[in-house]
Amino acid sequence: MIWAAVFLVAASRVDADPYAWGDFFHSCHPLLEEHHSPIDLDVHMRRDSSLEALQLHGFDELQEGHWTLENDGHSVLLSLGSGMSVSGGGLPGLFHTLQLHFHWGSPSSNGSEHTLYSRRFPMEMHIVNMKSVHPNMSAALEDPTGLAVLGFFIDVVYADNVHFSHISQKLSSVAHKGQVTKIRPFPLMSLLPKHNLSQYYRYHGSLTTPPCSQSVVWTLYEVPVYISWTQLAQFTSQIFSTEEDAEQVTPLQNNYRHIHPTYSRVVSASRDAGLVSSGAAGRPVGLCHFICVVCLLRLLASVL
Ligand SMILES: [Zn+2]
Repeated sequence: MIWAAVFLVAASRVDADPYAWGDFFHSCHPLLEEHHSPIDLDVHMRRDSSLEALQLHGFDELQEGHWTLENDGHSVLLSLGSGMSVSGGGLPGLFHTLQLHFHWGSPSSNGSEHTLYSRRFPMEMHIVNMKSVHPNMSAALEDPTGLAVLGFFIDVVYADNVHFSHISQKLSSVAHKGQVTKIRPFPLMSLLPKHNLSQYYRYHGSLTTPPCSQSVVWTLYEVPVYISWTQLAQFTSQIFSTEEDAEQVTPLQNNYRHIHPTYSRVVSASRDAGLVSSGAAGRPVGLCHFICVVCLLRLLASVL
């Protein structure tokens, strides 16, 4: 996640290599048993039937005013005004929606931050929300559950995502670091896999950019957002980490942090999440059902 607005001075020293962040931000050097992000979502998930869909307040509505799209040199960030919030789904309170941003790879490699059964997706979108009791980001980062981030994997198909075009059509205006443009608000729900929002994974972790604070309740959705190859290429090839007048132009690529150990953390699967089943050692539910059907057919065949 990107926190340049909060850590302007520090952000200027952020190295592109996440392994070097700890030189300036000691909290980015994880110690044993610390809870950092991202992680691989794998067999160690546990079903929690109390985890129902989050309530996404205002996500269906057309917000007033305008939104701001910005290239901060580390990502493309869309500031979302103050009309939306999230709650429920096991979150400890109400969280105001602040911004969304993206992580991506390169023309030849995927760049999601989290991985699902070790699979890295082409991109990942983070919708950042701050607990309503906090007056500012600094206070939220002192709270182990001060932020709630909704993470969406982004996968690629041939057809353009017309809703995603609200953002991708504006990317050329923020190709270089420091560039900002306005976007007319659109219902944020149109970007999301709205029929599958009860399927997600939950764990406690950290920011994935400095200062790497362990203050995030993560919600990673199982069903990706789909965009086209063309829309993906706009991120991987046409966004730069350098300013427009820089002598050497550098593409902004691979802006994701490396995977961290889960250690003793519990990673929960929501009631409707489909990829794990409690007591099934994390074997995908779909595969388990398929194997069971095959066993039943063999049994019937042996009897008949
Ligand atoms: Zn992020």
